[in-house]
Amino acid sequence: MGKRNSNYRLVKIHRNYTVEETASLLSVHKNTVRIWIKEGLPCIYEKRPMLILGRDLSAFLQARRVKKKRPCKPNQMYCLRCRSPKVPAGNMVDYQPATETLGNLFGICPDCGVGMNRRTSLSKLVQIQEILDITLTEGLQHIVDSN
Ligand SMILES: [Zn+2]
Repeated sequence: MGKRNSNYRLVKIHRNYTVEETASLLSVHKNTVRIWIKEGLPCIYEKRPMLILGRDLSAFLQARRVKKKRPCKPNQMYCLRCRSPKVPAGNMVDYQPATETLGNLFGICPDCGVGMNRRTSLSKLVQIQEILDITLTEGLQHIVDSN
């Protein structure tokens, strides 16, 4: 069990991994990797098979260890550089849809200026809209409004 905590060390930051490669590298089930993607592990969807950048995977695994102790509040996103949850600068985030029901929120860390992102579902946007100023991709506003 102790080894799992340092599994990010197995990840080569200059490599890209498919879901299958990630699973076998870290000795986890493919579905575990898919859950990580839902939880916010960045992943390149434009390519098939989808690819996970080594440096994103490494950062995600490290962040995950900390996150267990310091969960994000609804208006916070996790800054990988500061290694802590932050309210995005200006309370502003962009929403970029990944699928019809899921997408990513992007914000800027108020302390270090690095981009932060968080996976969310379209249905949760209505809730988030009450606490953060979301810029929606054109055409999405009416979908959220009609919810
Ligand atoms: Zn930061």
